[in-house]
Amino acid sequence: MPIFEYQCKECGHVTSFLEKAGSRKAHPCEQCGSRKTEKLISTFAARVGGSSSESSSCPTGTCPLS
Ligand SMILES: [Zn+2]
Repeated sequence: MPIFEYQCKECGHVTSFLEKAGSRKAHPCEQCGSRKTEKLISTFAARVGGSSSESSSCPTGTCPLS
């Protein structure tokens, strides 16, 4: 399950959530309870999820993720 990070726009605290892709659940800040959170791209989750393709360079140059 991927990890998503949400940064609170009120206090700046970043909360990490494990959730299914496409989930529309609310993710209130765990520190202040504000619902004004912004989804961040988690490099940690991307790295874990892409463990089978460690190389960051695409040999064909057509990789959509590169
Ligand atoms: Zn907050």
